[in-house]
Amino acid sequence: MELAINGGKPVRKDFLPYGLHWIEQDDIDGLVDTLKSVWLTTGPKTLKFEEEFRNYVGSNYAIALNSATAALHVSLLALGIKQGDEVITTPMTFCATSNAALYLGAKPVFIDIQPDTLNIDPKKIEEKITKRTKAIIPVHYAGHPCDMDEIYTIAKKHNLFVIEDAAHAVWSLYKGKKIGSLYGTDATCFSFHPVKNMTSGEGGMITTDNGLIADKSFKLRLHGITKDAWKRFGAKVSGDYEMTDLGFKYNMPDIQASLGLSQLRKLEKFEISRTKIAEFYNSELANVPGIELLKCRDYVRHAYHIYVIKIKPEDLSIDRDTFIKALNAENIGTSVHYRLVYLHPYYQSLGYKKGLCPIAEDISSRIITIPLFPKMSEKDAKDVVTTIKKIANFYKK
Ligand SMILES: *Cc1c(COP(=O)(O)O)cnc(C)c1O
Repeated sequence: MELAINGGKPVRKDFLPYGLHWIEQDDIDGLVDTLKSVWLTTGPKTLKFEEEFRNYVGSNYAIALNSATAALHVSLLALGIKQGDEVITTPMTFCATSNAALYLGAKPVFIDIQPDTLNIDPKKIEEKITKRTKAIIPVHYAGHPCDMDEIYTIAKKHNLFVIEDAAHAVWSLYKGKKIGSLYGTDATCFSFHPVKNMTSGEGGMITTDNGLIADKSFKLRLHGITKDAWKRFGAKVSGDYEMTDLGFKYNMPDIQASLGLSQLRKLEKFEISRTKIAEFYNSELANVPGIELLKCRDYVRHAYHIYVIKIKPEDLSIDRDTFIKALNAENIGTSVHYRLVYLHPYYQSLGYKKGLCPIAEDISSRIITIPLFPKMSEKDAKDVVTTIKKIANFYKK
């Protein structure tokens, strides 16, 4: 079969995206119910979403915001991160993770990754700790939890906060415990962007066991005022509030929360489907020439937010970018998670240099995210496998 990139017939007629949300009638009914109610912004639906989310995670508090970016920003601010502080994180992430530190004038310090999970390598953290280091932000890449025992041991020894970026990890378990409920966590940040494991259109959540951090986060998400509009409305006293901190307009409206609620109730269904497809890929792609798969530790439950393959350039006559073009020509959607944060022009302008994290740099040039979303059919998944095999076999050395 000739490859589509060389003029052949594509494996699929219609384009298969790499990720997609799944909205059903119950999501629509919940949203309509909110739209017909007297309350659209942060109110009863948001309170309910926070309650069900903290029950799900097993944390003492949950604070809903309009994005995970806002959640990261507020968490760092609530923990007192400020100008001149250093914050340790991974470069294999979306720029939101380290941007949150930059918002506060703190400096992101990037640590190299483990080549098999693409998570931050705990063995490389301590050598980068200085007197200015205040926090570690591990990112549970693709939904595979980081080595949290090692990370928390280092944090405790050096008196650092741990803010978990759990944008991919709403379903993940680390040694049987939900991400967001480990070690009396300082703060864990979740995302409900449409491409994530569940969606509220846009949205984020902080979970914490610390009442002080929760109080500060509730205030900072809405201008730093002492009572949100719902409480003021409930108390039927207008103007009864004080602004005590310089906060932000980061609250989650009830329109988003109602979608978050119906999606959270279906998370298990979504994840059963994601896991089934991922396991199909794990077995079907295990021995394809020029393709390497990521590893999954036996003490975690993977949330499979994304499915990432690594190209082995020594075994193929094409590079990653050409492999992507060949997949796209067959109507298979792709993405790259991630182009390293510090290689973006803005970070380069701050003085970060190529060569900082050599393993991450090498892997970042070899990875491809292939389609994985819960609504995908068995045929969709088979098309992906067929296409990867077709391209890899054609170009194998
Ligand atoms: C998506 C994502 C974010 C940001 O989430 P938003 O809700 O879009 O702000 C942060 N970190 C990681 C790792 C992400 O994938």
